[in-house]
Amino acid sequence: MRYVYGPVLSRRLGLSLGVDLVPRKVCTYDCIYCQIGRTTLKTLERKEYVPASSILREVEEALRSCPTPPDYVTLSGSGEPTLNERLGEILKGIKGMSPSPLAVITNGSLLYKEEVAEALLEADVVLPSLDAVTPAVFETINRPHPDLRLGEIVEGLKAFRRAFKGRLWLEVLLCRGVNDGRAELQALKEIIAEIGPDAVHLNTVVRPGVEEYAYPLPYERLSTIAKELGEGVEVIIRPPQRAAPPRQENLEEQVLRTLKVRPLTLEDLSRSLGLHEMEALKVLDQLADEGKITSRIFDHRIYYEAKGPKP
Ligand code: SF4
Repeated sequence: MRYVYGPVLSRRLGLSLGVDLVPRKVCTYDCIYCQIGRTTLKTLERKEYVPASSILREVEEALRSCPTPPDYVTLSGSGEPTLNERLGEILKGIKGMSPSPLAVITNGSLLYKEEVAEALLEADVVLPSLDAVTPAVFETINRPHPDLRLGEIVEGLKAFRRAFKGRLWLEVLLCRGVNDGRAELQALKEIIAEIGPDAVHLNTVVRPGVEEYAYPLPYERLSTIAKELGEGVEVIIRPPQRAAPPRQENLEEQVLRTLKVRPLTLEDLSRSLGLHEMEALKVLDQLADEGKITSRIFDHRIYYEAKGPKP
């Protein structure tokens, strides 16, 4: 499978079957904290980066081989999914074959485009992000395509909220010393109130990002900020407790595929794949010996990641 991965445990969506709508790493932003890697194609051009027919075929096959339906089928992955111009057809196609609700994780930058907003109306949950509401901070943290305008993005979010009947969960990711200043947070609070999402998910850098200076905020500080931002704001950095069903076949291959999507700690990996940590460690050692993975330390934790080309 090239475009579908998992199911993996997601902090917000439980057991989630992931679907990639663009190759790594096509995006409208190049966020300093991005865990996928540097943006290699920063673009606003919408096109069929990945064939819709292949995506639908793979989703069908993956759903057939899942022992239980995932909690969500989630469009996200290796870049910005709304850049795929066949987004609407893909959403409709998956809806026709999946018993699980559909989620789309997006940076929200293209919601101001009518065709993108219209396509996303098919989803059950849309999870856009908004990390900054003043242009200088937006430029610093998200490093957007030069033709994007923050005002337009915010207006797009507001208009989408009015039209969308599903759940809208806004994600705000805070980096220490970048977008956690008092003035920025106050402005953010006002804009969030104007957008009116169903929930706000406060996040921070939990895995190594593109830039070493993208530092996390401690949990306690995030909790304080959540309270200041008001009702419906929750901190989402606690890892989920539920383990995925155990899957024993092709363990090495599964671990490698999972680490190609994003770097993970031993704990994250064993939870995702429903493995005992000792068992996961054995596979990691084997893959390291074979030169297929590497590790690095971030925020006092060891992260493992796959070497070579990513999906
Ligand atoms: S929007 Fe998402 S995929 Fe794009 S650079 Fe930012 S974190 Fe990475």
